[in-house]
Amino acid sequence: MVVGAPSSAHAAHPAGPVAAAPPLAWAGPAAAEEGESEESGSASASAWVTHEVVPKETYDSIGERYGVTKDEIIRWNKKKLGAKKWIYAGMKLRIHARKPAPPREKIVYVVEKGDTWTKIAKRFDVPVKHLQAWNPKVPKGFRAGTKLKVYTNPKPPPPGASSGGSGTGAEAPLPEFHVRSGGIGVGKPNRGRLLKGVQLPASDMVRILDEDKVWGTSHTIEHLQEAIARFRRDTGYDEPLTVSSISLKDGGRFRPHSSHQTGRDVDIRLPRKPGAAKGEAPSSIDWTLTWKLVKALVATGEVQYIFVSWSRQKYLRRAAQSDGATKAELDQLIQYPRKPDTNKGVVRHSPGHTVHLHVRFTCTPGNSRCESY
Ligand SMILES: [Zn+2]
Repeated sequence: MVVGAPSSAHAAHPAGPVAAAPPLAWAGPAAAEEGESEESGSASASAWVTHEVVPKETYDSIGERYGVTKDEIIRWNKKKLGAKKWIYAGMKLRIHARKPAPPREKIVYVVEKGDTWTKIAKRFDVPVKHLQAWNPKVPKGFRAGTKLKVYTNPKPPPPGASSGGSGTGAEAPLPEFHVRSGGIGVGKPNRGRLLKGVQLPASDMVRILDEDKVWGTSHTIEHLQEAIARFRRDTGYDEPLTVSSISLKDGGRFRPHSSHQTGRDVDIRLPRKPGAAKGEAPSSIDWTLTWKLVKALVATGEVQYIFVSWSRQKYLRRAAQSDGATKAELDQLIQYPRKPDTNKGVVRHSPGHTVHLHVRFTCTPGNSRCESY
């Protein structure tokens, strides 16, 4: 049941426009800590967030993002910044944001034939210099197939744009999910357990078949909800998705599954066509919606694999193609038409996954007891 481990120790996600989730959570005023007092009274519009610095960011650009000043950023991070006050990529800053920042996405872009630095920079609307700085090891004359890191800020919707359309970038902000921290997985998905698991909360986004079976790591529960919210926003789909199994409260053996032991595996039923007959026929599944669900999951940056039977991946790939996915994207995300044992694609073969996706989320960052597998 457990398929293909990543090819390198660092490949937490095997390529793809996977990678980092928006590094920030709009935690709401409740997240205030360290004695920094809230502006008086009621629901204030500000909140503590953790901002992870990306290459080329400056105090000014960070300040602009959250509606705060350089001096404030320095004051809130005095200890960390020390006398020199240098900021560098990867550094985490605490910021008392006055406005919710747009989610930032880290994309892995695969260079296509004919691409130039300028072309790619233009495509993502970022300065060429930044693009090069994000990819210091990539030679100036790269070739097709080279992978580039790109940090993008989705654009605010143009005035009057309708939501839920096919827009590129014109997006309403996603709701924030408050998930208790501390729920972590220990060991491997097929031999492990769950500590202080978090139960997937009931909502209009999900149909939970058995509430005893939907316990996950904090990381999983947060990003699962984020992905479903993104899926609903991007597609206008407003029915609940059925989540059949994550893990038991303390993880461990969970029949009939062989994995699902550490709160990182989630079974989601595939969206069906309206009025489709029951059963496993591929024709009963809405593969375009399934593709969009895959994309929304991958967009969290925290999905390691999505297991789908190889015989069904063909339908997924076809739908993705009709939806305008590029070849590079298809190859990054879907194993098919490569053989079912190929170590390629986020979507991987695992038998019996004909009417549901089995999503494996990454280990919680910093949790060394979780075995990424
Ligand atoms: Zn499963």
